[in-house]
Amino acid sequence: MMDMHCHIDLYSDPDEIIRECVQNNLYVLSVTTTPRAWKGTYALTKGVPRFKTALGLHPQLAHEREHELPLFDSLITETKYVGEIGLDGSKEYLPYIDSQLRVFRHILKECQKSGSKIMSIHSRGAVSLVLDELEKYPNAGTPILHWFLGTKKELNRAMNLGCMFSVGPAMTVSQKGKKIIEWIPRDKILIETDGPFATLDKRKLRPIDSFLVLEYLSKEWCAPIETVKNILRNNLKRLIL
Ligand code: MN
Repeated sequence: MMDMHCHIDLYSDPDEIIRECVQNNLYVLSVTTTPRAWKGTYALTKGVPRFKTALGLHPQLAHEREHELPLFDSLITETKYVGEIGLDGSKEYLPYIDSQLRVFRHILKECQKSGSKIMSIHSRGAVSLVLDELEKYPNAGTPILHWFLGTKKELNRAMNLGCMFSVGPAMTVSQKGKKIIEWIPRDKILIETDGPFATLDKRKLRPIDSFLVLEYLSKEWCAPIETVKNILRNNLKRLIL
């Protein structure tokens, strides 16, 4: 199984979490929120099978960390994975949208320059804006929209731009999330947890909680767990090969 968006470096005991992932054969995309965090986060799982570390600059930190873009540029050739990046149009972060746009565009441009990346993208309250930017940089790589909560029209537009969607346990317990999971074609879906930021019943999610989504999909699709696993494994293969 897989967790395509989690923040390994932000758990109080990353080593324990990493052990748990290895024991359960998880493929993990460990995303970062600032370029400065990349080296240390990469070191946490260097040599650990099935762990990839993405280089990111979180949109909620864009206005404080814009000066780290040169560091971002110097690290971009170190990894095929980029995230967490994107835009956040929620009330708290909308005042910083100009800075967010500068950062996001800069990163997409760099991705385009250095070759196709796999990108984990935040789009809270800003789905259309994110898609506008992805449209301008078609060769940046494959976008994975993480915790997508847009409309059906936006979902279709995202698919036309080659996006995949990573879905977490929190989406399986909200009405809107459930509806979106129903809309996503089976060959475009991946699993994430967004732990430890994301919680379920006030408990911080861990990568192994991706199994909750597996069980949910098995019920929704009326398909055995093994069948769902195969579909997801194939989606992952297509993405990373
Ligand atoms: Mn996140």
